[in-house]
Amino acid sequence: MNPYRQLPSLDRLLDQPAVQALIGEFGRLAVRDAGRRLLEQVRLEIAGGEQPPDLPGLAGRLAAQVWRDLTPTLRPVINATGIVIHTNLGRAPLSAAAAQSMLAVAAGYSTLEYDLEAGGRGSRYVHAERLLCELTGAEAALVVNNNAAAVTLVLRAVASGHEVVISRGELVEIGGGFRIPDILQQSGARLVEVGTTNRTRLADYEAAISGATAALLKVHPSNFRIVGFTESVSLGDLVALARTQTTPPAVLDDQGSGTLLDTTSFGLAYEMTVQDSIAAGATATMFSGDKLLGGPQAGVILGSKDLIAGLRRQPLTRALRVDKATLAALQATLLAYVRGSAAQEIPVWQMIGAAPEALAARAQEWVRGLRQGGLPAETLPGQSAVGGGALPGQTLPTTLVALPSPQPDKLALTLRRGEPAVIVRIEDDLVLMDPRTVLPGQDEALLAAVNAASNEG
Ligand SMILES: *Cc1c(COP(=O)(O)O)cnc(C)c1O
Repeated sequence: MNPYRQLPSLDRLLDQPAVQALIGEFGRLAVRDAGRRLLEQVRLEIAGGEQPPDLPGLAGRLAAQVWRDLTPTLRPVINATGIVIHTNLGRAPLSAAAAQSMLAVAAGYSTLEYDLEAGGRGSRYVHAERLLCELTGAEAALVVNNNAAAVTLVLRAVASGHEVVISRGELVEIGGGFRIPDILQQSGARLVEVGTTNRTRLADYEAAISGATAALLKVHPSNFRIVGFTESVSLGDLVALARTQTTPPAVLDDQGSGTLLDTTSFGLAYEMTVQDSIAAGATATMFSGDKLLGGPQAGVILGSKDLIAGLRRQPLTRALRVDKATLAALQATLLAYVRGSAAQEIPVWQMIGAAPEALAARAQEWVRGLRQGGLPAETLPGQSAVGGGALPGQTLPTTLVALPSPQPDKLALTLRRGEPAVIVRIEDDLVLMDPRTVLPGQDEALLAAVNAASNEG
C-alpha cells in the first residue's frame, strides 16, 4: 500500500481528541500551522524510506512540537550546581519582598516619575538613591541597566578624549563580551597600561600620569586569581596619589560584585565593601545589582553630587535607564540591608551563609527520598562556589548528593529536559546535586524530577 495514503488529512489529525485539547490551550491557528508542518516533515521521512507513524503517534509528535514552540523559552529551573551567583541561570534570585514589590509595581500604575506631594512630574532616579547613600555613605547615586552600562557611562563622562591609567593585571574580560580595553575604547578614552600582569606598583601609576590623564581606573579581577609573586595598588593609595596632582585625575572603582556585607563574617576572604570604596575616596564606585547585592539586574554608580548630576544629563543615560520593576526590586532589596536583615532575607546571602550541618541534613533528606524511589543515591562532602565573578577561587564546604548513573551526561540531559528542569554538576562521572543553591520549597519538586529522570534511564 502507498505509505503516503496512510497519512491522515490535516483535518483528521486536528480532530483527534488529544489535538483538540491542544487547540483549546494554544488556539486553532497555531496548532493547524504546526500540524501542516508536521505532515510535510513526515512526507519527507517517508520519502527517505521510513514507516509512516500511526495517528496517535502523529498526535503525540504534534503535541511535543506545539509545547516546544509555544511555551516560554525563559522559565524557572532548579539550580543544583552549588554555584550561588550563576550568570547563565539568571544570577541572584530575588528576596520575597523584592519579588512582591516588583510584581505590585509591574502589574499597575506607580510613582515611577510622579511626585505625590506636588501632584506632577517626578524623577525615576530618586527611588533607590536615598537608600544607596544611606547604606554606603556616598553623596549621590545613579542606577542604570547593568554594571557594564555604569562603567561605560562613567568613563565616557569622565575620560572621553583623555587618558585612563589601568594596571595590566586588571585588563580583564568579564564574560558576555565585556572586555575592559573595549569598554575604554567605546567610551572614547585612551588606555594607558601600567605594571605587569602580576605586579603593579604605585610608582608605575605615578610615572604614567600626565596632563592628559583624566582617570585612574581600578577593576576587580572578578573571575580569575593570580597567585604567587603578585602586587597591586590599593584604592586608597590611588586616591592619595591622585590628590598629589595639580589637576587630580578621577579615581574610578569598578567593583564588579560590590558587597555591602563583610564577606569574612561568612568564612570567605576579605572583599573590599562598597562602603570601603566610598570611605577610601573613590570619585565613582560602580557595581552590579544582581551579584553579591542579591537584587535585580542593575548597575549602581555612586559618587559626588556633581558627578551624578552630570551623568544624569548625558544622553546615553536615557538609553541605559532602568525600568520600574527593576527599581521596585532594588528598593526592596536595599531595605533589607537598611533593616540589618540582609543575611536572613536575601537568597544570595542565605545560601552563602547556610550552615554546613543544615546542608548535610538536607542532603541526607534527599538521599532518603531518592532511596524510597529505588535510587541508591549517596551523600558526599564537596564544595560550593559563590560565582558571578565574586571571590574567584573561593569555595564553601557543603554536602553533595551523588546519583549513580551508567551515563551521567544522559541523566543530566534528561534532568534538563524535565519540568521543572534541574541543572546539576558532573564530576568524576558522578551526577552531583548541591542543596546550597536549591531554594527552600523546591526539595519536593527536585526529588520528583530526579526520580522521573532516573526511571527514564
Ligand atoms: C560583572 C562585572 C561587570 C559587568 O557587570 P554587569 O552587571 O554584568 O553588566 C563589570 N565589571 C566587573 C569587574 C564585573 O565583575
